[in-house]
Amino acid sequence: MTGWVVVAGLGPGDTAMVTPEVTDILAQATDVVGYIPYVRRVAARDGLTLHESDNRVELDRATHALHMAAEGKRVVVVSSGDPGVFAMASAVFEALEAGPLGWLSLDVRVLPGISAMFAGSARAGAVLGHDFCAINLSDNLKPWDLIEKRLRLAAEADFAMAFYNPRSKARPEGFGRVLEVLREACEPERLIVFARAVSTAEEALNVVRLADATPEMADMRTVVLVGSSRTRRVGDWVYTPRSVE
Ligand code: SAH
Repeated sequence: MTGWVVVAGLGPGDTAMVTPEVTDILAQATDVVGYIPYVRRVAARDGLTLHESDNRVELDRATHALHMAAEGKRVVVVSSGDPGVFAMASAVFEALEAGPLGWLSLDVRVLPGISAMFAGSARAGAVLGHDFCAINLSDNLKPWDLIEKRLRLAAEADFAMAFYNPRSKARPEGFGRVLEVLREACEPERLIVFARAVSTAEEALNVVRLADATPEMADMRTVVLVGSSRTRRVGDWVYTPRSVE
């Protein structure tokens, strides 16, 4: 049996947002590897071994997947959303780079998924309709100073922004600081969309002005979309026009 590793995105939650390509590859897998809640989204069946692992062990998980593929297994590494956005695809390449030379001839593929920022932006309208950037607000893998620097420069350049991992129990003060930096750089009317648990039964969308935003509006199931200075409301929607006059 020839092994392979496919890193696949499961989308934001709803099975209707899993691409047919990802569904097909899961049907061919012998092993699925990933963070516990994501692996639980994959249906169990005969011939499929599910390997659930904890948060923050991405490199171990990726190394395990590559080992299994080298032994001939057909391994799918699952991420939520898109696997290339603050997720497992980079972890697999880091493990590949650190591993034995022979791994470079393994069959490794990445299948995209619908990232939380796109699902959240679509629910609100078209928040990311012009230039935008995505920032991971977790300081697990980078210094907090760098997060603040990127935030400040992105606000100055008038990008719309998508924030992932905005607020956790381990970093309760971080998102409050993010709002302070935004208040220094942007006008109080700036629109912010808090899109929580998009495409699940717990979905909630909250659109506020920067002046009214509070840290409690975000949690780890929320993607925060900050409009540019052009972002506006039309009816119930929030959108960013395609042009800057
Ligand atoms: N690879 C994923 C992101 C993983 S980081 C993607 O492309 O979407 C985890 C963060 O993603 C969460 O803290 C949250 O900010 C965001 N997120 C994931 N699923 C979400 C959903 N259904 N609704 C809102 N935000 C979500």
